[in-house]
Parts: sequence; structure tokens; C-alpha cells
Amino acid sequence: MAVVPGGLKGVTTHKAKGAKFETLRTVANMGAFDIAHDIGFATASGAGTSTAEFFEREEIFLPITPNEREFMADDLGAERVRSHILHEEKVSDGHRPPLHYKLMIRHLYVHVPFCAKVCPYCAFHVHLGGTTAQRGFVKALRTEWQRAREEFSLALETIYFGGGTPSILSAELFAELAEELPSKKNGSPSNGPPQEFTLEVNPATVTPEKAAVWRAAGVNRISLGAQSFDVEMLRLLGRQHAPEDISQTCALLREYGFENINIDLMFALPGQSESKWKATLTAALACKPNHVSAYALTYEEDTPFFEKLQRGEWRQDEEREIAMFTQTREVLGAAGLVDYEISNFARAGFESRHNLAYWRGADYLGLGPSACSTIGAMRWRNVPNTKAYVERIAHGESMREEKETLDAATRSKERIMFGLRMREGVALEEFGADASHLKELEMNGLAFEEAGRVRLTSRGQLVADSVAGMFV
Ligand code: SF4
Repeated sequence: MAVVPGGLKGVTTHKAKGAKFETLRTVANMGAFDIAHDIGFATASGAGTSTAEFFEREEIFLPITPNEREFMADDLGAERVRSHILHEEKVSDGHRPPLHYKLMIRHLYVHVPFCAKVCPYCAFHVHLGGTTAQRGFVKALRTEWQRAREEFSLALETIYFGGGTPSILSAELFAELAEELPSKKNGSPSNGPPQEFTLEVNPATVTPEKAAVWRAAGVNRISLGAQSFDVEMLRLLGRQHAPEDISQTCALLREYGFENINIDLMFALPGQSESKWKATLTAALACKPNHVSAYALTYEEDTPFFEKLQRGEWRQDEEREIAMFTQTREVLGAAGLVDYEISNFARAGFESRHNLAYWRGADYLGLGPSACSTIGAMRWRNVPNTKAYVERIAHGESMREEKETLDAATRSKERIMFGLRMREGVALEEFGADASHLKELEMNGLAFEEAGRVRLTSRGQLVADSVAGMFV
């Protein structure tokens, strides 16, 4: 029996059998628990078993948090987990440090569920909310963050406030949140302030007071939900701002030192011609963004837009969508914005670090109602209901649900699906079990391999969603 005490973060004990677990033991001892977990599931899935069963069978004991205990119970049954823990405590026999370790969090997402008006195409968990609802939410979020700080270690590289409309929060409420959340002042002790702190902002919701508070809190990237510079399209989308609000908001943000600005746009809208789309792209470039996200409209179920499509009032025009997709690449590319991901364009050095982390398959923690987290073998979603979220937190209950245990194969498939959308592509070795799909893509001229990386061809990019579907 080997007991390996200590670690860089928190305290770990780890019992391993034989040399084949040496790597696992080494990374655990270094405090790299996420890697230890990854090695755990890679080995477990190779052995055709769940990570929990594998750890139990091989008598590998990584101390677990209450949340991980819940996940183990899903795999093994509560009774077996209890005996596992008891056994572990007996083994310790006073020689081990307390059973405790923390997973490392590098990427944090915060979901702010409020919008001034719900757009008819939106399927996110969003709703209207006055000051009282916002206060209740901020209080709950602060508590969730305090709990997460106990559970995980912080080495935050990126923070992303999305929604919803985070910029709807008053300057006072945002300042209150910033006091609690990692920022310029009280960021990650181990690696200083996060390198990127993004705030999603809707035009016409920015005031000088808010901009000053965001800046002071360490926000250094703004993602502006412009969607269109066309009055008619903005009306169709149910947006509350006018085209001129977008450029005025950009100017105000720059006055307060925000140079890293993304503009979000949508194309393939009902009644949108190619010339209108080109005019929107040109107007967006006039605002001098360092980053543009341009997504084709998707008709999400249970939205008024979806119903119109179902009733036949609107129809999707694939050819027009492809023409606009191509036009986007030409116009933005000519302006020096590189398509580092199919729908995302940036000047060199202004790629979204937070989104790159998602697409590369990194772990992330999500706070707020409906926020999703993926940490090691665990994925969960917070309850997608703000009232229930606030109440559960107030009563000391878990707000996490829709829990899933991920095996190495699932995470690998996800890295392929997202990675193929990126200019950097996917490492060839990632395709292990999916080599036949890769062959098929290459034979059909949809993907190619170069220097050990697999990328989509231009033709492959046009059918990226179908390509991703092959790996589901
Ligand atoms: S502003 Fe954004 S998040 Fe809010 S309803 Fe509209 S699309 Fe959804």
C-alpha cells in the first residue's frame, strides 16, 4: 500500500498498486487532479468500466469532495460508495492528512438571466427581472461562488459573464458582485488576475457609471450584442437598440479604456438580402472591432421564430445562407480579421481565450441558473429556473442537476467536433476510435491532414454541422 501525502493545492492522499499507476500518482501528487482524473478515465474506458468502478477495483483512492461522492454514487450505488469511504478512513488510521483535495478551475462562466425584453428567436434561460429579482440573484450568485471557492482551487485565466444581458445589472449591483468574484484586486492568488474578463453587453444599456465600474472590476473585453446594423432587421429580431446606438456604445466603451471589443452579428435572417448583410458587415467594421462573431440564425424549438418556420410563414434558404457565409469570410478577411473558428474572426492576439478553452475541451465552472460546468469526469447543469436557483441556495441545497459522468471517449468526440470548427484543427491522434469517419471525410474532400493536425476544407466548412453530427 502506498500513501502519497501532500500536493501543491490542498492535501491529497493516493493509494496506488504497482508501477502502472506511477504517472497517476505523480500527477496527483503535483496537485494536477484534473489530469489524474483524465488518466483515470482513459484507463477505465480502455478497461471497459466506469472511472468509479475502476478506481474501486484497483484500490486507487483519490480523496473526493461531496459533489464527486454524489457522482460516484450514481455509478456504484450509495452503499458501495459508503463502504469505499469507510475503508478509506480505516486505511488512513491516523497516518493520513484529512481527506480533502480541490480541483483546479481556470475558466469561469457566469450566467446572468435578465433581459430588458425576450427576443423571439432566443432559447436561453432568460427573463425580465426588476431590481428586487436582480438583488436576489446577485446574493445567490455570491453564495454559489463562496461555495465553489471552498470546493475548487482557483487559477483563473478567463472569466466570461454571459446571459441574458449582464450589462443590465446596475453599476451598484455589479460592483457588489465584483467584490466577491475574482477580479483585478482579488483574483486568483496563484496566477494573478485573469488574463481575459469578458462581459456581454447590449447596445444602449451602457452608461458612463457602469463602464467605469466594469473597468475597475477588471473587465477587459466586451462582447457587444449588435446582431445587425439594419433598422428593419433589428425590429424583426425584437432588439431594442437602433443602429447608431452600436457605434455610440463602442465610442463610449473606448473612452473608458475598452479596446478589446467583439461585435456579435447574425445573418440568414428572414427577408435579409446579401446587400443588406454586406452593409451590416461594413458598418460593423467601421466601429473598428478586434473581433467579430457572425452566426447564421438558428430556429430554436419553442421560440416564436421556430413556430413561424413550422407554420410555413418563413422558409430556410440554404443557398442564400452559403452565399452570406462566403461573403462574411471575404469582407472580414479583407479587413484583417482571421477566421480562427468558423463563426469567429479576430485580429491576431484578440482571439477569445475563453471560447478557445471550451473548444479545446478544457474544464470550466459555470455559475448562475442554467449554467453548465464540466470538470474532469463530471458535467452538470444548474437548475434552469432563477427562482428555484435562488431558493435552493438560500436553503443550503444543491442547485446542480442534469448530472452526467463523462468517459474519455465522449470528451474526445467533443474535442473533435469543436476542434474541426477551428483553423488550428484537431490532433490526428484524437481520431483513434473514429478513424473511419476521418477517412470518409478525407475521401469526400471535406477534411485534410497536415503536420499531424486535421482541418476542414472550405467545402467541409460549409457542412460543418453535418460533419460534427458524425461524431455524436
Ligand atoms: S438579448 Fe440576447 S439573451 Fe436576451 S433575449 Fe435577446 S438574444 Fe436572448
